[in-house]
Amino acid sequence: MKVCKFGGSSLANAAQLNKVIDIVLADPARRIVVVSAPGKRHSGDTKVTDLLIELAKTACKGENTDRQAGAVVERYAEIAQKLDLGEEIVREIQMDLMERVAKVNELEPAEFMDLMKAAGEDNNAKLVAVAFQARGRKARYASPRETGMVLMGEFGDATLDPDSYARLSRAFSNFEGIVVYPGFFGYTKEGKVATFPRGGSDITGSILAAAVCADVYENFTDVDSVYPVDPRIVPEVKEGIPTMTYREMRELAYAGFGVFNDDAVIPAVRARIPINIRNTNHPSEPGTMIQQSRRVIPGTVVGIASADDFCNIIVEKYLMNRQVGFGRRLLQVLENEGIGYEHMPSGVDSQCVVVKGQYLPKEKEHRIIQALRRELEPDYVAIERDITILMIVGEGMCYTAGMFAKACLALASAGISMSMVNQGSSEVSFMIAIRRQDRDTAVRALYKAFFG
Ligand code: ASP
Repeated sequence: MKVCKFGGSSLANAAQLNKVIDIVLADPARRIVVVSAPGKRHSGDTKVTDLLIELAKTACKGENTDRQAGAVVERYAEIAQKLDLGEEIVREIQMDLMERVAKVNELEPAEFMDLMKAAGEDNNAKLVAVAFQARGRKARYASPRETGMVLMGEFGDATLDPDSYARLSRAFSNFEGIVVYPGFFGYTKEGKVATFPRGGSDITGSILAAAVCADVYENFTDVDSVYPVDPRIVPEVKEGIPTMTYREMRELAYAGFGVFNDDAVIPAVRARIPINIRNTNHPSEPGTMIQQSRRVIPGTVVGIASADDFCNIIVEKYLMNRQVGFGRRLLQVLENEGIGYEHMPSGVDSQCVVVKGQYLPKEKEHRIIQALRRELEPDYVAIERDITILMIVGEGMCYTAGMFAKACLALASAGISMSMVNQGSSEVSFMIAIRRQDRDTAVRALYKAFFG
C-alpha cells in the first residue's frame, strides 16, 4: 500500500485536482490520500489556510466575517463547479465554516485559531472524496477524530501522542477503497482540534505511512525531484537526485534544502518507510527516493547545500587545551541564554562555536561576550556574523581519499578563503564555513568540481 500526500499547489484548482485523481487512479496501491488545503493558484494568490487565519482574526475582534468566509467558500465552490460536483458539498462546507466561526466566544483564542485553520484541510478532504466518487470510484473521507489521531503539546505546534499509531493502524485496516484524509490537524485528548506547525500535512502523511507500514510514502509537490544544488544559484542543474539515504536527506535539509521538511518525515524515517518526492505536474518522472540505504558509487557526492545567517563565537586562550572544563563553561554561557550550537570547530588555543543567527540576536551579543570574559578569562573573544555554511554531502565520500582536497581546490581556484571546516567521523558530509558574499561563487565552483 502507498500513502500519497498532495500539497496545496497540487490542489489549488480543478485542473490540479484532476491531475491528482489521475495519479491516484493510475496505481491501485495508492489507497491513502492525504490532502492539504487548496494553495496558491498563481503567484499573487492567497492560500486557503492564510484566508482562514484572516477569518479567525476578524472573528476574534468581534467584527463581521462575511467577506473572509465568502472568500474561503468561493475557493471550494470554484473547484466544485468546474468538476460538476453539485451544490451539496459546497453547502456542507459553508455550514461547517459557520459552525466553526460561531465557536469564537466558547474557545481560547489559540484553540479557536486551530479550529479555523483545520477547516482548510478538513473541507478539502471531503471535497476530494466527492471528486473521486464523481469519477465512479469507491472513495471515502476519513476524519482524524474517528481514526484516533490524538495530538498533544501546544495549539498550532502540536505533536502526535504515540499511542495514536495503534489506533490509526486498526482504523485503516477496516477501510476499503480510497481513503481521503485531511492533513495538518488532529484532536487533543479533550476532543479539541489541534494543528501541527505550518506545512504540517507532510507530518500527517508521514504518520499514516508509518501507522499502516506503507511500502512507500509518496509526497507529491511541484518539482520533479530534489536537485543536487539550489537551482537558483546554479540554474543549469538539470538532473535531480534519483535516490538518497535518510542520512543524506537530513544533512541536506539541515543546510537549507527546502523541498522537504526533515522534521515532518521523522515518523516515516523511524519506521524505515521509503519516501518518494514527486511532481504532480509530471507524474511520469520517478522523482527522488529517500530510503535507509542505497547503492553508492565511491567518490561521488549527492548534493551541495548552503545555508546563510550563521554566527561564529570565537574564543582564544593560550593553553586552552590544558584547562579542564573549558568547553563546558563556554557552552554553559550559551545554555544560560537558551542558545544551542551547530558546530564547534577548534584549534589548539581557539574554540569556535557556530550558532544560528536567529538564536543570537544583536541585543544578546554584549551580554554573552561579558559572560564569556567572566567565565573563561580569554585572550580574545568576538562574535562574527554573516557566516554561510556549505555542506558537501554523500555516502560515497566514506573511505574515499581526496574528497575534501577536491572541495578545497575548487574553492581555492575560485579565490575563496574558508573560515572554518568541520567533518564528523560518519564521513557522510563535511562543512565549510565561508563569508556570505562568497556563497554563490563557492556553490558554483563546488558544483562544477563534483558534478561538472
Ligand atoms: N495548509 C497548511 C499550511 O498552509 C498545512 C499544509 O499545507 O501542509 O501550512
